Amino acid sequence: MTFKYCPDCGAECRQKDFKTFQCTSCQHNFWDEPVTGSAGLIRNAEGKYLFIRRNIEPGKGSIAVPGGCVDNGESLEECCIRECFEETGVQITNLKYFGSYPNKEIRGEQTETSISAFFTAETNDMGKSDKNEVSEIFWLKKDEIDISKITLSDIKAFITDFLRSG
Ligand SMILES: [Zn+2]
Repeated sequence: MTFKYCPDCGAECRQKDFKTFQCTSCQHNFWDEPVTGSAGLIRNAEGKYLFIRRNIEPGKGSIAVPGGCVDNGESLEECCIRECFEETGVQITNLKYFGSYPNKEIRGEQTETSISAFFTAETNDMGKSDKNEVSEIFWLKKDEIDISKITLSDIKAFITDFLRSG
């Protein structure tokens, strides 16, 4: 992300270094830094894993796990619990941190970067898609997970590492 104009006062910004932009009027600094996200790989009692089909960009139509951006004041765990519930209607428990993965999405002239924490979790719910951000949900056995259908690179890296971890 670049800051051509100040989000506070609308004046022009100048770039100070590789990630710092300063307003030429109010002098506020703005930084090109990643958005924080959180996502979960959810297992049910049958040992199947919950996947979604994304209904929004980036990666519309591709397979993913539920997750999203952290709200102000929210922990990574709270974000994961909230996003999983909002997108698929399942209540998750027993969250375990797996790892963090950076991502970069190019949207027009803007590059948006993120860093997301990925958790494994469990549920007893069947779930349903929210029909908004998610077009459908499905449960897959480990050997049914097709990495090639995952296009978002952070989720692809997470699931690849998860499958390798045994
Ligand atoms: Zn300003």
